[in-house]
Amino acid sequence: MTAALSPQARVAALDAMTREELDVLVVGGGVVGAGTALDAVTRGLSTGLLEQRDYASGTSSRSSKLIHGGLRYLEMLDFGLVREALQERGLLLTRLAPHLVRPVPFLYPLNHRFWERPYVGAGLTLYDAMAMAGRYDHGLPRHRHLFKRQVARIAPDLRTDTITGALQYFDAQVDDARLVVTIARTAVSHGAHCANRVKVTGFLREGERVTGVRARDLETGRDLEVRARVVVNAAGVWTDEIQHLVGGRGALNVQASKGIHLVVPRDRIRSGSGIIARTETSVLLVIPWGRHWIIGTTDTTWDLDKAHPAASRTDIDYLLGHVNQILKEPLRPEDVEGVYAGLRPLLTGESEPTSRISREHTVVTPVPGLVIIAGGKLTTYRVMGRDAVDAAAHSLGGSIPASITERVLLVGADGYETRSNQRAALASSSRLHRARIDHMLGRFGGLVDELLALVAEQPELGAPLDGAEDYLRAEVVYAVTHEGARHLDDVLTRRTRISIETFDRGVKAARPAAELMAAPLGWDDTRLDGEVDHYLRRVEAERRSQRTLTDREADEARVRAPDIV
Ligand SMILES: Cc1cc2nc3c(=O)[nH]c(=O)nc-3n(C[C@H](O)[C@H](O)[C@H](O)COP(=O)(O)OP(=O)(O)OC[C@H]3O[C@@H](n4cnc5c(N)ncnc54)[C@H](O)[C@@H]3O)c2cc1C
Repeated sequence: MTAALSPQARVAALDAMTREELDVLVVGGGVVGAGTALDAVTRGLSTGLLEQRDYASGTSSRSSKLIHGGLRYLEMLDFGLVREALQERGLLLTRLAPHLVRPVPFLYPLNHRFWERPYVGAGLTLYDAMAMAGRYDHGLPRHRHLFKRQVARIAPDLRTDTITGALQYFDAQVDDARLVVTIARTAVSHGAHCANRVKVTGFLREGERVTGVRARDLETGRDLEVRARVVVNAAGVWTDEIQHLVGGRGALNVQASKGIHLVVPRDRIRSGSGIIARTETSVLLVIPWGRHWIIGTTDTTWDLDKAHPAASRTDIDYLLGHVNQILKEPLRPEDVEGVYAGLRPLLTGESEPTSRISREHTVVTPVPGLVIIAGGKLTTYRVMGRDAVDAAAHSLGGSIPASITERVLLVGADGYETRSNQRAALASSSRLHRARIDHMLGRFGGLVDELLALVAEQPELGAPLDGAEDYLRAEVVYAVTHEGARHLDDVLTRRTRISIETFDRGVKAARPAAELMAAPLGWDDTRLDGEVDHYLRRVEAERRSQRTLTDREADEARVRAPDIV
């Protein structure tokens, strides 16, 4: 049975968490927290998860969305990290989430004669070999060498006057926010209790030992206590705040590094492949994303508002400047449909510039009953979850089974292949275009049946959403009834990616989407208007911040539209 993250399920989860002592309570509903909850519950531990805002509203919806080994780490000779990440890539792609994770080809343009081709070629040979040597099917083609003429055929808009050729290799990509909700939903389907919009405000203690948390339900304003034998903190860039709540010196030092991305329409760059190129401090990524390209990223220290990292005009110009160096037809600011900024939770200790710090994760147990995990990356969430629960198992005592998540399919994986093979029949029985069915298969996998049932019941939900026609109206309703969405922002920013995929940033879709959400969430007209108004103010604040020159000005503009509480 696949559980639904419905409004009623949220109430039931909070009820269960406040009634009984849990084995493990996870704080944070990003990819690491969701992965930890799934690991814990599938080992037979009674498990809860609290997320202060929406699932994935922190870093986990704002990444480059790659499931990758990381060529940069190879160059930093971090072989263990690359091997582990490539193994996870194969596992997700071929077994755990084949509906969500898909291959993406990259061109690596070569600019130097003689040394560069053998150097990059050797690196990619090692990259492929590590993937193939992993325990799971790696599921991707090997890299290949290309001459200039072949590059021009694959990517007509890539400048070829400055390159000597290219290499093409494969990695994988995922909708990061969707991955997190899917992991949380999988955890709930296995018996975990998960609730978003519940902020942990303090810890319960018995002497030194942490015995649970105090929290506030931001939807009702109710304060509650959740007791647990072990609390696992997976709070990403908020790790310091959590350490503060528990008192004493921080065991982990997490520094936030801002990375921004631009989204432009697919037809602005003619290329059949993603592109990866070096910049002076980092790498430039041009990643295919449905009918769009995602262009990233920057890497700068950020010590302002963590909940709403803001992109400035300077960040945007930096990316446009770099991407235009490799394109024949330069992109203009007017080509940018969407912009998003995220904060990398980097473990520090050394005084190095942020782009050099290792992304590896660390688990610590600063006081009995409390485990803190931080660092890492999206790709290795499963390993992080396993390591966090292994640390928790020490505190729990007794014999806790080993992690089984390498065999636990994420919801929607089951039935995905069959339904994909049946796409023509599904299109004709539902009267939806085959492209719609494909779009839904790539978002819901085998759970596409639930959406089609909704459309069969209420045929008007089979129509496209006004203002964001790539999505069906049914997807908005389903986001509320099955995927834990509680606010308009959740639907437009994370359950769908309308806020970055439309030139108006979802403004036109806001009211039609809110109207569809009103019934399942019990909103009256005042509440509905408030949600739309809040979303519009958020879009305006982001636009304003993107006209400013400095981080501080961008932050000041952005924080003027705070979250709904
Ligand atoms: C620009 C950029 C690009 C990236 N690209 C990639 C990539 O392509 N591939 C890759 O593998 N990785 C990538 N990463 C890294 C990856 O996105 C992160 O490592 C990962 O998402 C971090 O997940 P997390 O769960 O630790 O943090 P988060 O997603 O931030 O989750 C922490 C959660 O804790 C919650 N929380 C905090 N305090 C409380 C509290 N008091 N009570 C309740 N909840 C609380 C927060 O609201 C938040 O949702 C990228 C990161 C960035 C910034």
